[in-house]
Amino acid sequence: MTETKIINHWIDGGFQPSASDRFGNIYNPATGAVIAKLPMGGAVDLETAVKSARHAFHSWSTTSITKRAQLMFKFKELLELHRDELVDIISLEHGKVIPDAAGSLQRGIEVVEFACGIPHLLKGEFSEQVGTGVDCYSMRQPIGVCAGVTPFNFPAMVPMWMFPIAIVCGNCFILKPSEKDPSCSVKLAELLKEAGLPDGVMNVVHGDKEMVDAILEHPDIATFSFVGSTPVAEYVYNKASSSGKRVQALGGAKNHAVVMPDADLEQTANAIIGAAYGSAGERCMAISAVIAVDSIAEPLKEILVRKMGALKIGPGNDPSNDMGPLITKEHKKKVMNYIQDGVSAGAELVIDGREHPITNGGEGFFLGPSLFDRVSPDMKIYLEEIFGPVLVMLRAKDFQQALDLVNNNRFGNGVAVFTSNGSIAREFTNKVQIGMVGVNVAIPVPLAFYSFGGWKDSIYGSSNIYGMDGVRFFTKLKTVTTRWPDLNQSSAVDLSMPTVE
Ligand code: NAD
Repeated sequence: MTETKIINHWIDGGFQPSASDRFGNIYNPATGAVIAKLPMGGAVDLETAVKSARHAFHSWSTTSITKRAQLMFKFKELLELHRDELVDIISLEHGKVIPDAAGSLQRGIEVVEFACGIPHLLKGEFSEQVGTGVDCYSMRQPIGVCAGVTPFNFPAMVPMWMFPIAIVCGNCFILKPSEKDPSCSVKLAELLKEAGLPDGVMNVVHGDKEMVDAILEHPDIATFSFVGSTPVAEYVYNKASSSGKRVQALGGAKNHAVVMPDADLEQTANAIIGAAYGSAGERCMAISAVIAVDSIAEPLKEILVRKMGALKIGPGNDPSNDMGPLITKEHKKKVMNYIQDGVSAGAELVIDGREHPITNGGEGFFLGPSLFDRVSPDMKIYLEEIFGPVLVMLRAKDFQQALDLVNNNRFGNGVAVFTSNGSIAREFTNKVQIGMVGVNVAIPVPLAFYSFGGWKDSIYGSSNIYGMDGVRFFTKLKTVTTRWPDLNQSSAVDLSMPTVE
């Protein structure tokens, strides 16, 4: 009998066993088989990681900025070299299909590319002669030990939203990836070492709430980056900020697609199907609510039903499949409960994913795609994030009613409007209360040189993630005012500050 693999912490440049004897299972969600065990670490393991990071900080933060950038270039090269291996790890532990896994990795690599430009991004400002003989300049300096806690749904991309920027800014990083698919994070840490990163600059610790609480409480961790569900984002934001940490905390979502009567039906339906059912709906930018305006509702429903029927569902490593399984058995059950709730509330279940042959066909955590119509805004399936392959359709009589629905929803991550009318699109982008907006683009995720973040209950704290917000988040601003007086000139005591002249 072969022993189940244990995925250890990555601390101080190598694998380290945990002090904890509590373990969790890592599944292949396509088969339901346990493929590895993960230690559920806590304060003792964290202390080792923080000690190593603190020790590494002194020399890493004083390493020249060009050397740090060169390391990122090398890391990018290694990511490309190991692309297939990383994509396979993502697909195996998460379940998403290979092209989708490859796309998510690419989005992470783009943040590394952005980080390669750090010598330019970290340039400060300089003003000569702000007073007589006085100059002023600003600089951004590393903060210290930074920590990040990430969700299961993007095991490569979301960690790479954080650590490349933190590290290239001169900080050390402690990552606590999702306990459901942690292997990718460990592989990324190994590649950083191969790229030449000194030991202790990047650490990966494993666990659940106990480890997160230990991070939140550790006095030597200066910043806390979080991506996950809204209740946990709110919790970590309150706890981390009350202990004096700088926090960025991104939460959950209910992203709408508003479809105007003049939208191109074919293109709109293709975009919505991809955004609703890609990655089995387990994306924070998934479209999970469609608002069909006026006469478009019936034809839209018809075309969505036709296209849903053509989706192939199965293991992520089979290139002919469009959609893989959900992450765990428990999550599948939760999504199925939502479907039942929608039926009980009186919504029209047009396609029931629970009846798809793959849902009950084996040990994997598969669930077919579902579509609800005639959903009303007070229903739980509309108000809450389901995070599965369930799309709910609401009907609005006009543009204003559709806009009001989006703006009254508690979440504010992403939204899309589908229309062929530029003036409607412009009014929508101007008035909608959402952080990331698409016009005929279903998943408007900003590229690495912009920053990512929602509004309302989809974010806590004032910083978006990656891009220049990332650089600002992971550095402290210092502003220096200098005077080099002419020693031959006389000077006198003056108690006024500032002086008028
Ligand atoms: P989750 O909130 O359950 O877990 C996220 C992380 O928090 C994990 O590392 C987990 O170990 C930890 N955690 C879980 N419960 C905790 C608790 N009570 N106390 C402290 N830490 C805890 O999220 P998930 O299920 O892994 O991921 C899906 C969620 O993430 C969805 O809500 C999705 O919308 C959201 N998400 C948001 C974005 C975004 O950019 N806004 C991106 C990806 C995912």
